[in-house]
Amino acid sequence: MMNQDLKVFNTLTREKEPFEPLHPPFVGMYVCGPTVYNFVHLGNCRTFTCFDIIYRYLTHIGYKVRYVRNITDVGHLENDADEGEDKIAKKAKLENLEPMEVVQRYANNFHVVMEQLNNIPPSIEPQATGHIVEQIEMAQAIMRNGLAYEVNGSVYFDVRKYNLQHQYGKLSGRILDELVSGTRELDGQGEKRNPEDFALWKKASPEHIMRWNSPWGEGFPGWHLECSVMSQKYLGQKFDIHGGGMDLKFPHHECEIAQSVGYCGEEPVKYWLHTNMLTVNGARMSKSAGNGILPQELFTGNHPLLEQAYSPMTFRYALLQTHYRSTMDISNDALKAAQKGYMKVINGLRIAKKMQYAADDSVAVDSKAVEEINRIIASIYKGMNDDFNTAVALSALLNLLKKINSIHNGQMKAAMLDEATFQKMIATYIAFVEDVFGLREEVRTDIDRIMSVLLGVYREAKLNKDFGMVDTLRAQFKELGIVVKDMKDRIEWAYEE
Ligand code: AMP
Ligand code: ZN
Repeated sequence: MMNQDLKVFNTLTREKEPFEPLHPPFVGMYVCGPTVYNFVHLGNCRTFTCFDIIYRYLTHIGYKVRYVRNITDVGHLENDADEGEDKIAKKAKLENLEPMEVVQRYANNFHVVMEQLNNIPPSIEPQATGHIVEQIEMAQAIMRNGLAYEVNGSVYFDVRKYNLQHQYGKLSGRILDELVSGTRELDGQGEKRNPEDFALWKKASPEHIMRWNSPWGEGFPGWHLECSVMSQKYLGQKFDIHGGGMDLKFPHHECEIAQSVGYCGEEPVKYWLHTNMLTVNGARMSKSAGNGILPQELFTGNHPLLEQAYSPMTFRYALLQTHYRSTMDISNDALKAAQKGYMKVINGLRIAKKMQYAADDSVAVDSKAVEEINRIIASIYKGMNDDFNTAVALSALLNLLKKINSIHNGQMKAAMLDEATFQKMIATYIAFVEDVFGLREEVRTDIDRIMSVLLGVYREAKLNKDFGMVDTLRAQFKELGIVVKDMKDRIEWAYEE
């Protein structure tokens, strides 16, 4: 069921365009992954979860998606430009660790969080340090094409020269001359020909700990180069979707376009997709601003801004309620509403999974009801087809849930629908909740509290000398692998050994 109606907003053209992959049914999708020098915050999680839902939906409608999301483990310097220390090397020095220990620690944390949020792992997760050779080769090729130059063991991309033939700034809507006056004020241009030039390769100073041999001496790759290299290696010179947060549009993605064009003359990406920012009190959540809320802080409620704990699925539900291109402010009110919504959807999932069609000769198929179900199902897809508008699709899904609930509580008879429509309603609901939106039932772990309620019933039965009930309860506990122990002054439970 490949969908002809899907339209995606392309940041490059600033328009919604019909989604037509280069090689259907295959779709190549590259998303810039985390720089692993710190724990991911909820803002990062928003971006990765939005792309997870996009990945899930494309798969749901029949595309075979190769989803590549990298790990940045070298070359991302402190100020996001070409100056300052490498973020990972700095952390390694601070904590007296090997840089690769820092990388492993935060990559592990990232994977745990992605799993907690039920994000599907990408098809390929390449690391920048595993692709140094390819990065050197691409820098050499860009030099051969006359668009990069070497100075003192560093290689820079010649933005001004590139701009004579191409348009540097077309993705972010920036004009080179305006950019130049901005950069000059900030910083001297140092060894670059022009201040807007960016590093493909940087010479390592003696104290720099992450370094590799290159034709230009020991050094390390520039941040932007890894994504051009890895997307090209795994998805080809031109691929369908490139994603990331809005803050990556410039300079990161702008530089990626320039590199690819400088390398092979072709723009690398058909559709650029950018997620909007998660904010706290209106300010962008960021690691450097120090206002990042960590997933663990959210899940435990252990943060001054949070009134209670919110589960991973509650957060995921809150993300679904906002379109990926809109900003989203995190607040207790929004999270509490999301918690309620999530519970409603999961209760519905439990009902839908058990619901059976009951044929009933005394009930005629109601063509209006059938029509309505079909209309609701169409509007779920319509929402997703409108640039993955999960907010619209989710509210349509809640309308479908109303129908399921009214059959469940007897207000409506299943037989008012023909069996095919009934099955389609159930299948669509389950597929959207689980496969597309990625919501799953969170298993309760507060067994002590649940057991204390049950032991209260057991105690009551004993006090009332209702031995039939006592025996039944004991047998049922046993079936669950639980034994009840009648102590002199209390009742305890334990797992059966
Ligand atoms: P980083 O590890 O900082 O490179 O960020 C990883 C991803 O998270 C990038 O795609 C960023 O654009 C994205 N990101 C960073 N901050 C936010 C935020 N506040 N809201 C949404 N996405 C963000
Ligand atoms: Zn990137």
